[in-house]
Amino acid sequence: MDDLRIALSDALTRSVETLQDEWEPHDVPSPSGIASCRLRQWFDGKRIPRSNRIPAASIKKMQSGKAIEEFWRTAYERLGFSLLGSLSRVPIGQHMTGEGDGILVAMKDIKLDGVTIPSGRSYLLELKDLGLWSYLSFYQKGAEEGLPEYWAQVQCYMEGYDLDACILHAGQADASAVTYIWNQRKERNGWPDKPPPFLLEVIPRLPQELAHWSAVAQEVRYYVDNYNTMPVAIRDFDPFKTRYPCQYCGWWTLCQRGVVEEEVGVSDDEIDQAARSGAKAA
Ligand code: SF4
Repeated sequence: MDDLRIALSDALTRSVETLQDEWEPHDVPSPSGIASCRLRQWFDGKRIPRSNRIPAASIKKMQSGKAIEEFWRTAYERLGFSLLGSLSRVPIGQHMTGEGDGILVAMKDIKLDGVTIPSGRSYLLELKDLGLWSYLSFYQKGAEEGLPEYWAQVQCYMEGYDLDACILHAGQADASAVTYIWNQRKERNGWPDKPPPFLLEVIPRLPQELAHWSAVAQEVRYYVDNYNTMPVAIRDFDPFKTRYPCQYCGWWTLCQRGVVEEEVGVSDDEIDQAARSGAKAA
């Protein structure tokens, strides 16, 4: 029976991991990645195969995040909003397109404690299901500082859909871990109240943000179109020293290697070798 358990577990893990091979290639540059490392965007834009595959646990988390979106949509609808989902992809500046999670429209005057949302008011809705550290970061620092990649993403989407505000809503992907870490560290760090079960922030559209991210998009597009070897000049972190985001980057091993002579066909031996030399350098 143990042989069966092990064989089945291995097969299921491989089955989950192969899902990533079926995903449509991501547009580059795009609002969801525009605030990430510019070199990482270049790897993605050149369609260079990842040297570090997405593990099964991360794929499961991503799918869980999508599955829970319906739950939150229903909660907003019960307040009196209508949700326009399945939004069409829209151009954002010259070099990006994007597709938001939805647009909330108040179908009546929605009376909350001390605030009324007038009938017809609309907001971009962006739903996230955050892991432990992202959730705590959002709670402690707010969206602009604590979740800069999502902040940039919603600024771009607001521009694309011509909306003046966004509700960035985040649930806890692992409520037990959030509670555990909070309780362990609250006294040492002087943390205030325990985090609520979800967080939201109403974010205004800031035109200067789009100007900035459009300039980054133009730069990334230029390097993707014109560089077939790795443009180290746009590496935003030190992959030998930086734990986050480098160790979560799909091209970490290649980035440490420092040279990509061909867009495809980097052998496993070369990648293993790069990983070993990278580990020593770190
Ligand atoms: S490993 Fe780090 S520096 Fe290299 S591409 Fe990824 S995020 Fe950028």
